[in-house]
Amino acid sequence: MNRSSSSFSNIDSRQSAIGNPPPTYNLWTIGCQMNEADSRHLASQLEALGFVETKRAEDADVAVLNTCVVRQQPEDKAVRKLTSLGGIKGSHRPGMIIALMGCMVGKREAEDLAERFGFVDVFMAPSQTDALIDFIVRHDAYSHLKKSQAELADYRLPVVNQDKAITAFVPITLGCSHVCSYCVIPHRRGPDRSRMPEEVLREVRALARQGIKEVNLLGQIVDRYGFDLDDGVNLAWLLREVAKVDGILRVRFLTSHPAYMDEELIRAVAETEKVCPYIEMPFQSGSDRILESMRRGYTQAEYRDIISNIRKFMPNASINTDVIVGYPGETEEDFLETMKLAEELRLDLFHIAKYSPRPRTLSAKMRDDVSAVEKERRRTALDELTKKINAEKSAQLLGQTVEVLVEAFQEKKKRWRGRTPHNKLVFFESDTDCLGQLVNVKINWTGPFSLIGTASEC
Ligand code: SAH
Repeated sequence: MNRSSSSFSNIDSRQSAIGNPPPTYNLWTIGCQMNEADSRHLASQLEALGFVETKRAEDADVAVLNTCVVRQQPEDKAVRKLTSLGGIKGSHRPGMIIALMGCMVGKREAEDLAERFGFVDVFMAPSQTDALIDFIVRHDAYSHLKKSQAELADYRLPVVNQDKAITAFVPITLGCSHVCSYCVIPHRRGPDRSRMPEEVLREVRALARQGIKEVNLLGQIVDRYGFDLDDGVNLAWLLREVAKVDGILRVRFLTSHPAYMDEELIRAVAETEKVCPYIEMPFQSGSDRILESMRRGYTQAEYRDIISNIRKFMPNASINTDVIVGYPGETEEDFLETMKLAEELRLDLFHIAKYSPRPRTLSAKMRDDVSAVEKERRRTALDELTKKINAEKSAQLLGQTVEVLVEAFQEKKKRWRGRTPHNKLVFFESDTDCLGQLVNVKINWTGPFSLIGTASEC
């Protein structure tokens, strides 16, 4: 489906009838894929109302910040951005609507935030974008855009034709109930709950009709999908169902938690061709003492066993992980256990974060006793080790032919960008339009984070 035809044509004619330029929105997003999905959802709702995107927040009629507070750094960035928008609104754009969404906005924070940022018109908890739409349709300046809420209610992701997206994010488990000691997410996103399978499948079918080729099923602990639904509805089942949708070539899911990575799920991934052999499963620390304090619910030996089990069914599975360095009380010995685990397991990609105390979490009550300098030293040491492992693993692909789903054309470098089923980034040149195609690429250069090769025809 093309965005300029069918469902959007009524909006175009309405705008030309009243002769006004369409109102504009700007959406600034930081953080995880879940935020990315929420932003795309909101963008689609705004576009259904007749808004068009503008690249500059300062020019927008509606400016939205979708925030992340998982660590102090992204929170500081959002506050800087918000303060500058407030300045613009105060000095020369009084009619600008400013909305704040994402994990900065929890139930308990709303009042505080309203006091701190009086210029913000709408506060929206994560995944709850309707508040802004309600505000706009009730706003005098936009009454001519009024569209029935019923039409907007389940309206997701028509943005595909705008940025020619090939991949889409589909949240399936919202919130999180695990309450790891360090993590603010459950406090901001609430307890975990599954979306209904029919709703998820309807969305995936709609995405496929719009040209999406790959879906990423999302959840903080995505493998808890269905725990609150009927018997038999779980992630393993859903993966097989999503893979049956015509037009979808690849299915991925993230993030996994070791406690839920059972054999049924591993088999579903291994046996379903369209489901990529790709798993994101954070271990966070290699020290049992730290894992216990983190309330992760597994030991490093158990984590190793799960990795062995995954590799038993999928010897070459690509496994990504998150690690936190400098957690309260983490000694050099603890850190060396993390290094040892990283070295022995030889996983495919590491996201390394320096511990950052977060409000109302359990660990925030503990002394943040690893100095900033020491956290950075540990981060660098682990980063160097894992980069070396990544480079060695990538080098094994030299001379091999891999299947690449092509996601975009890089104008600057005049080359196509895509990913292998194992989620390795691949670049290649071709004069034909390869967007959205599966292309076989023979690899002739490898780096720790990307590969370059020559394509057979696409
Ligand atoms: N739900 C997923 C991901 C949560 S957030 C999970 O449970 O693994 C993504 C990553 O941010 C986490 O995996 C963790 O490595 C990191 N993170 C979360 N809280 C943090 C904190 N307080 N300080 C530093 N890193 C943190």
